[in-house]
Amino acid sequence: MAQGLYIHIPFCGSKCHYCNFISVPNPDPEIRSRFFRCLFSEINWAQRQYGTLEFDTLYLGGGTPSLLTTGEMAGLLGKVREYFKLRPDAEVTCEWNPGDRRLLGGEDDPAQVKTFSSLGINRISLGAQTFDDPLLARLGRRHTARDTVLTIERMRNAGLSNISLDLMLRIPGQTVESFRTSLEKAVALEVSQISLYDLEIHAGTVFGRLDRDKKLDLPDERVHAAMYELACHRLPNAGYQHYEISNFAKPPSERHPEGFFSRHNLVYWRNGEYLGLGPGAFSYLGGVRRQFARDLERYLRKCESEDWSNDVEDVLTNEEKEIESLAMRLRLAEGVNPADFPLANSRVSRNLEELLQEGFLKREGMKIRLTPRGQFLSEDVFGFLLRKDDAGNCQAL
Ligand code: SF4
Repeated sequence: MAQGLYIHIPFCGSKCHYCNFISVPNPDPEIRSRFFRCLFSEINWAQRQYGTLEFDTLYLGGGTPSLLTTGEMAGLLGKVREYFKLRPDAEVTCEWNPGDRRLLGGEDDPAQVKTFSSLGINRISLGAQTFDDPLLARLGRRHTARDTVLTIERMRNAGLSNISLDLMLRIPGQTVESFRTSLEKAVALEVSQISLYDLEIHAGTVFGRLDRDKKLDLPDERVHAAMYELACHRLPNAGYQHYEISNFAKPPSERHPEGFFSRHNLVYWRNGEYLGLGPGAFSYLGGVRRQFARDLERYLRKCESEDWSNDVEDVLTNEEKEIESLAMRLRLAEGVNPADFPLANSRVSRNLEELLQEGFLKREGMKIRLTPRGQFLSEDVFGFLLRKDDAGNCQAL
């Protein structure tokens, strides 16, 4: 059974300076309706291909799904329920950018949140990024810190209280003090989860060009590490559980027995099965990882010509499945018992031992976990863990 459904909505108010996601700025109505026609035929195809899948989570990402009109959202969720089963207690998340609707169509629509909520959306992933207005402008974001606060207020008034808030690290010009202020504002807002993201620089973006011309004042590694450490100390003190490398959520309580961990992302981190729809989306079903279309133009063309071949298709061996599971589970604070993954363990055991010896991993009982140093350098740690040969050592990570 698939556990998670991801749908990619490829529209935004404008393009942020760092963005390399599949998103079209300010799309005209024609492209919007063309996209929905294609998405509905892909849903139809997926149902024919996989049967009536049942999902525990639905995640609307992008792009900016909060830009959908209430009619578009009702049509989309109606189609999902017509072709698949969404469990009654499913987690249904919508990514949201504060202030976008005001930019595109007059004032924010207070009824929008209520309608989205009545359609079944019960969790919001809010792209706050920082509460420092000059840094927001630097990023090319379309909102201010005040927009973020007002958006959260409006959501709570509409009864939507499960809000996860994104904060970004490594913004050009960002200081530890600026990050500390943003962190404190996020804590004061008492959101249910705080997710940290490192700014990445991609060729073809505004920041990519500035970086090539050496005009981007990115915080150095020392400042970057200080920001991450600050969050790792402050958020648990404020009652958040550090359950994944970059994610901190309110833990279970009497009132909320499950806590506020992202159920959808836990599907990925536990290497569960999921269906991804829309341009660029990946699926992982029956041991096959696939991507139907790598960009929007291709997506529209392939759907319209009913060409359901995959742009990417990897059939994973049992060993590859185990290695992926082991690496994904290592992201979680709960850690992993390598003995549960015998095929993977026999291939990477020497790398694991070396990472343990060098202090990137620690052993606790039967389980191994990332140390704080391993968490900060996690991408390098996973790169070392997964390499095929065991030449060299990891001291230089
Ligand atoms: S809101 Fe997200 S997807 Fe849209 S342009 Fe900005 S970074 Fe890209």
